[in-house]
Amino acid sequence: MSILAVGSIAFDTIKTPFGTAESILGGSLTYFSLAASHFTDVKLVAVVGEDFGEEQLAAFAGRPIDFAGLERAAGKTFRWGGEYNLNLNSRETLFTELNVFGDFHPRLSAAQREASTVFLANIHPALQHEVLDQIDRPRLTAVDTMNLWIERERDAVLELLRRVDLVLLSDEEARLLSGEIQLPRAGRKILEMGARQLIVKKGENGALFFSPQERFFCPAHPVEDVVDPTGAGDAFAGGLIGYLDHAASWENPPLRAAMICGAALASFGVEDFSPRRLALLNRREIAERIEAIRGLTQVPRVPLWQTGGTG
Ligand code: AMP
Repeated sequence: MSILAVGSIAFDTIKTPFGTAESILGGSLTYFSLAASHFTDVKLVAVVGEDFGEEQLAAFAGRPIDFAGLERAAGKTFRWGGEYNLNLNSRETLFTELNVFGDFHPRLSAAQREASTVFLANIHPALQHEVLDQIDRPRLTAVDTMNLWIERERDAVLELLRRVDLVLLSDEEARLLSGEIQLPRAGRKILEMGARQLIVKKGENGALFFSPQERFFCPAHPVEDVVDPTGAGDAFAGGLIGYLDHAASWENPPLRAAMICGAALASFGVEDFSPRRLALLNRREIAERIEAIRGLTQVPRVPLWQTGGTG
């Protein structure tokens, strides 16, 4: 079992009310692959520039992540800057420099095409389509995106929704895409637009799953000291998709359990700047956090009224 994943590997500059970090390792694929690597093998497809070296690669050391699909190109690695507001729930993009991603076209090898799962982490939707164009039918395909692409490449994003099994969006992105304020309505509308299954991530307020048959809510772990929310959505996707790839059968997927794995990995990701925390996790810590999240939602069934009453 393995995941073929395309997305960004980046240098991020992040400002939060509590601190600033300049040019640290980031990118949607970085967070995703480190989180997913706790459950399954990941084959990366991405490009970095000449400024990406041993120091950055060391962050992935020891994880089952295959770098055969990492291209090195002349020029600079993708760079992104973001600033969070006081409650850390919303952020402003300060800059996006595509750099080497501007000319990148993934060419998949035979081994990469055989991956059981394909995850299209946030990157230009044209690249996400190029990956889908090259693969045979995997068990599971999933896509993530962001505001920038919903605004600038709406048609390509809509086409992607229809090509994959599972779509992941933040609450803000779901509102932007659907034109609806209320999330239950936004979820229904995105299914009507052609998504087969949808997860709307709501940050510290958990995540909602929508399919034509089912709705499910998964809480977030209540983290007391959030240092940097960057990559939380990607780490959530990593835990979720990593677990689904590892789990036996997509015919009857343990999707609820997978969402709790996603919530657990996301909660670790926000405890530090950069994906450092995700890389250093062990299985005991992950299992304990999954139990803590399960515990948040377990309610015994009790009699609601004393017998004999009416009303
Ligand atoms: P998240 O907080 O889950 O939305 O992910 C943030 C990560 O996405 C950062 O590490 C950025 O480097 C990366 N990112 C931001 N903007 C883009 C973009 N336009 N395309 C690809 N990756 C991006």
